Amino acid sequence: MMSYDSDNVFAMILRGEIPCVKIYEDNHALAFNDINPQAPVHTLVIPKGKYINMIDFSKNAPEELIAGFFRAIGNTAKQLGLEEDGYRLISNAGESANQEVPHLHFHILSGKKLGPMLS
Ligand code: 5GP
Repeated sequence: MMSYDSDNVFAMILRGEIPCVKIYEDNHALAFNDINPQAPVHTLVIPKGKYINMIDFSKNAPEELIAGFFRAIGNTAKQLGLEEDGYRLISNAGESANQEVPHLHFHILSGKKLGPMLS
């Protein structure tokens, strides 16, 4: 597997070098709005650690961070007020999925009927 690039934009956001519109933060994760939203609600949740994608994270992250990260995704969706209307979670990995930023992230999408999973 390729090695983690500490200069990726999400690493820079975690270090406070690039601003973001923060939605939620705890010891394990940071959630902020996507700069190029694909739906009325488009928030990204990233773990506080150097993981490229889910395979890397599930293999190498400590249990506490794995649990904390997934809790943070749920907490973020709740904080966004999406419990009733619903939302979609997407995590792109690698070339086939068009992953642009090589730091594990989940997209939370909502705010309208999202239609089929893939267009
Ligand atoms: P991916 O294609 O890797 O799953 O998604 C990366 C996402 O990061 C894209 O939706 C893109 O709009 C978003 N993004 C890229 N650069 C920045 C940035 O500097 N700030 C924020 N908030 N989002 C970004």
